Amino acid sequence: MMIYLDNAATTSPKPERVVREVDRAMRQYSANPGRGGHKASLDTAKAVFDTRTLVKDFFNMESEEGVIFTPGCTASLNMVIKGVLKKGDHVVISCLEHNAVLRPLHKLKQYGFIDYTVADVVIGDDEATLQSFRSAINARTRMIICTHASNVFGIRLPVERLCALAHSYGILFCMDAAQSAGVLDIKMTDAGYDIVCCAGHKGLYGPMGIGLLLINCDVPMNTLIEGGTGSESFNPAMPGYLPDRFESGTLNIPGICGLGAGIRFVQTKHRERIAEHEMKLIRYAYHRLKNDDRIILYTPEPELEFSAPVLSLNIRNHDSEEVSKYLSERFGIATRAGLHCAPLAHNFMGTSESGTVRVAPSVFSTQKEIQILCNALKNFSHSS
Ligand code: PMP
Repeated sequence: MMIYLDNAATTSPKPERVVREVDRAMRQYSANPGRGGHKASLDTAKAVFDTRTLVKDFFNMESEEGVIFTPGCTASLNMVIKGVLKKGDHVVISCLEHNAVLRPLHKLKQYGFIDYTVADVVIGDDEATLQSFRSAINARTRMIICTHASNVFGIRLPVERLCALAHSYGILFCMDAAQSAGVLDIKMTDAGYDIVCCAGHKGLYGPMGIGLLLINCDVPMNTLIEGGTGSESFNPAMPGYLPDRFESGTLNIPGICGLGAGIRFVQTKHRERIAEHEMKLIRYAYHRLKNDDRIILYTPEPELEFSAPVLSLNIRNHDSEEVSKYLSERFGIATRAGLHCAPLAHNFMGTSESGTVRVAPSVFSTQKEIQILCNALKNFSHSS
């Protein structure tokens, strides 16, 4: 039996109800929504709309129109970065960003189109983090983009205050919620986030290949992809209204329905309880490992207020790949070694050379599994 602790890459297993819903969607909703007036097409369109409503309510949004289904968080972030920014714009990001933020920005910068500044995060000092973002803002800054929580170290950013900071300068706030959606609270309207990008396949327990772009403002945003929407078909330009503007082509119906089932699963289990359960496991691991001087823990003391349930560690003088391989081959424990597509975060932590071993539980993880992990890590150091 595998002990799966690589849930920050994608949650596994998926809940049974998600698997069943994908199967059901493929059988019952095999007609194209919005492309016909016949009953089968209308039924599929209704299933899509119902999921939009569910997403809207889950993230406390004002309307369904701002719920855009995308192929994933990477696609959503690219749509925002390339759709919103104009020549000469400047962006502020955090030092914990994933390549899904960094690479699109880097490309635009390489073309001389935009510029960006990386603001440092000061662990445990939100005031200092805010100050670091504040001093990175200049007269050309159009947007702050930052992750809700680091997918490597679990460190949380003071996103509500960063959003307020952005607004006080009249700039947009876009949050990468790939690591947090389904675990941390995201209330778009209350917090005032302009744009939130989510992965469907992590804490929302949906299938891979589905993501969300949540728009809660009326920013002019260009399209990356143009095509049929089933609406305004005589118009050679994309419709101006949401969600059609950003949803051309046939939608991923099994993915959308599966994501809906994932969100309902999270609601049934209660997001807060999932977060507390995962955090308890991370706290347990942290306290079992913290006094072993051969083990280096990079994640600060796990507190839900300051971190998401992810633990990054190394065994002194050993490469993270070696440790992860040992855990997998000797104990059947799945962790993720290396840089986790977040080179900035590793630069920040000084772990670019070794990478780290990342432990990320899900709602299905148990204390017994974390015990086995801790024993395996301690034995590695004894046996080496
Ligand atoms: N941002 C962060 C912080 C992530 O952890 C991930 C996925 N690991 C992404 C963006 C990309 O998400 P997706 O896999 O849905 O494209």
